Amino acid sequence: MRIILLGAPGSGKGTQAERLAAATGMMHLSSGDLFRQAEKEGTELGKLAKSHMEKGLLVPDEVVIRMVLERIAGNKAGVIFDGFPRTLEQAESLDKALGEGGIDKAVYIEVSRGELLKRLSGRWICRQCQKPYHLVTSPPKKAGRCDNCGGELYQRPDDTVETAEKRLEVYLEQTAPLVEYYRRKGRLVEIAGERPIETVNKDLVARLRLRQDGHRH
Ligand code: AMP
Repeated sequence: MRIILLGAPGSGKGTQAERLAAATGMMHLSSGDLFRQAEKEGTELGKLAKSHMEKGLLVPDEVVIRMVLERIAGNKAGVIFDGFPRTLEQAESLDKALGEGGIDKAVYIEVSRGELLKRLSGRWICRQCQKPYHLVTSPPKKAGRCDNCGGELYQRPDDTVETAEKRLEVYLEQTAPLVEYYRRKGRLVEIAGERPIETVNKDLVARLRLRQDGHRH
């Protein structure tokens, strides 16, 4: 089973992907997390990604596509794609690599622009395990520390108001057309994202008809 989580930055893709992966044993593939990891390690890929990420722009298609396809090669447990694909070219490359029926569902998590900006500007992330928190709506139990692993929390440099606005603009231009792309293929599932994390999660599991092993009923 392969699922794509579509939605703007701040729509809750990462949070929902993490939960689905934990419940099903599927692989959670976040292209943004992979870039941040590469940046931390100081690799060439990391340096290249940083120069785009810090401006709120997308990393070039061929770089992202190669990285993602390498990651999923040989995967048997199923994949939850979080933040990929983000352009039509990426979606088409993924379809070509996986073949017809390679993607079971693309879930579009819908959240309004005002809510997205509010979420992004209050977001703090664990440096170690990447778990996201929100200063107001879902703060950690201990200030500045991750509930999961005790790691240090930090604010992503691209979550500042200016860069977040740029990312939303890029999303509308380059990624939003994917909703139509998957609708036409009959793969789209639409989920209202402005509800509590748990409610969205339950809805998602029900709509995807997921079993614990990541297969569908
Ligand atoms: P995210 O953590 O998904 O918000 O991604 C953070 C940043 O990583 C984005 O703003 C892009 O610069 C880059 N990025 C992540 N995924 C992709 C992708 N599929 N295509 C291009 N750039 C990406």
